[in-house]
Amino acid sequence: MAINCPYCKSKKVIAKNYGKKVGSAVGTVAGAAIGIPKVITGARIGASVGAIAGPAGIAVGTLAGGVMGALVGGVIGNTAGTALGEVIDENVLDNYHCLNCAKSFSLNPQKKRPLPPPYSSDPSHHSTPSEFDDYPT
Ligand SMILES: [Zn+2]
Repeated sequence: MAINCPYCKSKKVIAKNYGKKVGSAVGTVAGAAIGIPKVITGARIGASVGAIAGPAGIAVGTLAGGVMGALVGGVIGNTAGTALGEVIDENVLDNYHCLNCAKSFSLNPQKKRPLPPPYSSDPSHHSTPSEFDDYPT
C-alpha cells in the first residue's frame, strides 16, 4: 500500500513498528514469566503421565511438561505483545517516517472517538417544584 507523507506528499515513507517490535519482545518475556506456573503444572502433569513408564518416565515427563509450559507461555505472550504493539503503533505512536522530509506521522491521528455530549437538561421541560415545596401541611 502506498502511503504519502502528509507534509511533503512524498511516497518515501517507512513504517517504524516500534510498538510491534517492543511488544513482541516484552510479550515473550512476560509470557514466559506468566508461564512459570504452567511450567510447574506441566512438569507435574508430565511427571504423573510419565510415571506410567516408570522412574525414567517421570524424569522425561517432568522435563517435557516444563518445557511445554514455558513454550506455551512465551508463544501466548509474544502473540499478545505483538497484537498490543500493533495497536499502539496504529493509535498512539507516529508509526510512519518520511525519508524525504524526516517527519513522523500517524495514519489516523484523529481516530479518537468524540466524547458524548454532556447531559444538558432542557430548562423548558422542568416542572417548578417550588410551588410544592411551600405547600402547607
Ligand atoms: Zn515528507
